[in-house]
Amino acid sequence: MIPKPKSLTMKRLTTVKSDSVKNGMKKAERVTRKCVACGDIRPKSELFRIVRNREGEITVDLSGRADGRGAYLCRNVDCMRKAVSSRALNRSFKCEIDKELIENLFSELMK
Ligand SMILES: [Zn+2]
Repeated sequence: MIPKPKSLTMKRLTTVKSDSVKNGMKKAERVTRKCVACGDIRPKSELFRIVRNREGEITVDLSGRADGRGAYLCRNVDCMRKAVSSRALNRSFKCEIDKELIENLFSELMK
């Protein structure tokens, strides 16, 4: 359902099994979340889900099903930049996140 950007090659992304992709997909599309950068409420399909897992790793969850605490971000460059500069993800995850790591993650998404 979520179109994958063609050139998305994130080697450190953890792949998530999507065993629950049966029904529910149409319903899930109408679920909205708030962007941590601009505060807009958007359908989940228009947002990136950033996940912090139990190991404390930050990944972009393209399946929407990764375990861990999630934060949502518009799929645009402005919100990514804003999230980095405003440290919105630090607030969402209630921890210190390496800024470089976030920037690397986002620069992959922006390609
Ligand atoms: Zn936004």
